[in-house]
Amino acid sequence: MATPLAPALLTLTPRCAAAHRDDASRCEGPRAVVRVIDQHGSEATGCVHHAAVLYASLVRPRVYPSPGHTGAAIEVYRRAQMLQPFAFQTATAA
Ligand SMILES: [Zn+2]
Repeated sequence: MATPLAPALLTLTPRCAAAHRDDASRCEGPRAVVRVIDQHGSEATGCVHHAAVLYASLVRPRVYPSPGHTGAAIEVYRRAQMLQPFAFQTATAA
């Protein structure tokens, strides 16, 4: 019998799929507002914050909004323009 695990995983998983394992920052807002796709077609669904970091770290990435989050892809793109690749590695505690 198939069990719909996705909603349960979204509730139990502490961060979105776009969050890098070495990035300790928390998600910002809903955790599935965009899909970020790399040049090979692999994709991750994420929040605006982690998707922007991921987007800034990839070569020739693409970003698409999830249904109901039309402006999220633009927000990810705009934020990524201001980030260095793997920005969490150079962030310093203020
Ligand atoms: Zn996130």
